[in-house]
Amino acid sequence: MVIYQGKAVFEGVAIGKLSVYKKAEHVVKREKVTDVEAEVNRYAEAREVAIKQLQALYDKAVKEVGEASAEIFEAHQMMVDDEDYIDSVENIIRTQEVNAEFAVAETGDNFEKMFLAMEDEYFRGRAADIKDITERIISALFGGDDSGLVSDEPVIVIADDLAPSETVQMDKDKILSFVTVHGSANSHTSILAKTMNIPAIIGCDIPLDDELNGKMAVVDGFEGKVYVEPDEAVMAEKKKLLDKELEKKQLLEQLKGKDNVTLDGQHINIYANIGNTKDLALVLENDAGGIGLFRSEFIYLESSDYPTEEHQFAIYKQVAESMAGKKVIIRTLDIGADKQADYFNLPKEENPAMGMRAIRICLTQPEIFKTQLRAILRASAFGKISIMFPMIISVDEVKKIKEIVEEVKKSLDADGFKYDKDIELGIMIETPAAVMMAEELAKEVDFFSVGTNDLTQYTLAIDRQNQTLDEFYDSHHPGLLKMLQMVVDGAHKGGAWAGICGELGSDLTLTKEFLAMGFDELSVSPGRVLPLRKVVLETNVGDYKKTKC
Ligand code: PEP
Ligand code: MG
Repeated sequence: MVIYQGKAVFEGVAIGKLSVYKKAEHVVKREKVTDVEAEVNRYAEAREVAIKQLQALYDKAVKEVGEASAEIFEAHQMMVDDEDYIDSVENIIRTQEVNAEFAVAETGDNFEKMFLAMEDEYFRGRAADIKDITERIISALFGGDDSGLVSDEPVIVIADDLAPSETVQMDKDKILSFVTVHGSANSHTSILAKTMNIPAIIGCDIPLDDELNGKMAVVDGFEGKVYVEPDEAVMAEKKKLLDKELEKKQLLEQLKGKDNVTLDGQHINIYANIGNTKDLALVLENDAGGIGLFRSEFIYLESSDYPTEEHQFAIYKQVAESMAGKKVIIRTLDIGADKQADYFNLPKEENPAMGMRAIRICLTQPEIFKTQLRAILRASAFGKISIMFPMIISVDEVKKIKEIVEEVKKSLDADGFKYDKDIELGIMIETPAAVMMAEELAKEVDFFSVGTNDLTQYTLAIDRQNQTLDEFYDSHHPGLLKMLQMVVDGAHKGGAWAGICGELGSDLTLTKEFLAMGFDELSVSPGRVLPLRKVVLETNVGDYKKTKC
């Protein structure tokens, strides 16, 4: 048994034979040509072939993994048609009087290096796309097709790296897992693997020897390990793990795709909460209808300095794209209190939970706020994003926030960036003041999401961090439940929808109550989505209301 270590990008266990995937390598030689215009024409024809192939891949990907994941092939089509790229190839053919294959390879190399030299991680990642389209055009010039992996039985695919065009054209039923030597967690390949719901490992030290072909292996997407020719003990242990996983999946499977409708026809949205992009896989796996709370402050907590607009943009865009048009509610920075980042240099406070935190920091340091808003708005061109503001206490605050949002939109217009002009704006209801002002606040925004964790602490005057107060902490306190009803009523009167994204939202003993109150959405940790759906499907709200009278 040999064990190889990599970085898991999607959880799960796969047991099966290995299949080493190698690209069809074309050896490009520099050859002198006499008829340069004929060579330019050959290049134009190869471009057309490449575009047709990419269109076919796009159509296939839309059907299999959704519009957002398929967009890469649209982007590749644009790259094939990129004027700078075309100019460069034609220039090389004409000035050096060389064959099109060589000119394309040269251009691809230059462009790839240019992207790799860029500071921004996202753009560096695009070098792989240049490589992909370059190989595609060269392959077309060689007259080849672009058929993918051929296998009779499902296999664990090991490869140096996989371009999105390669993963998508592989027969999904024949793939148990992806293991790559290179590749980044941000690459489209890992996004696709997540979308396909199969374990994937990148940065693995596995050799790409043909000898590995057909050997039995286990991929453990929890540990990021590949066991080649596992011994009996490992095999038995992993089989058990796989069985457990399958059992869990089967149970969940039955509820997937079902609408969250009660027996008497009341619908509720069930979304998931995430802290970072790693959680996306779980959101998809658990069939959440959207992301109801993306705690963006984790991006700040994971950084040693203020995260740049580009860095944030890449993250928000990835989330939006991965959710393929489903709603993604990004909560703006909620730093302070228990979430501290040194570089903010926040002063020590007697009462940090009641101190300089969340929206208060954003309103006193608008430059930090604007950077985040620009990043979120720019990402809104790639999916269905809503913005949510935490720790609101007044209508005035919301008005100020909206002014800043407008200012940021204007700056994006001036810079020529696209964004969703009608982006939904919402607020968290976490303070008793916001509850009391619900109707007035609802007139200013599109939605509310109740942060019951904070609302409970501020309503009951119990520090949520202080364990010694646990015996006094009553999450079902009637005062709190009355407040929740006030929030829904105020929201609806003021024309907004209302949800819950605090932990109470996943308290299954209250699901009927939340339905009866009229909540439009519950956002819970991904693993709670399906259990919650089960309760919704089994509830008759009308009957429940009668039992209360
Ligand atoms: C809440 O307060 O309920 C909430 C969802 O926000 P956080 O837990 O991040 O403060
Ligand atoms: Mg909160």
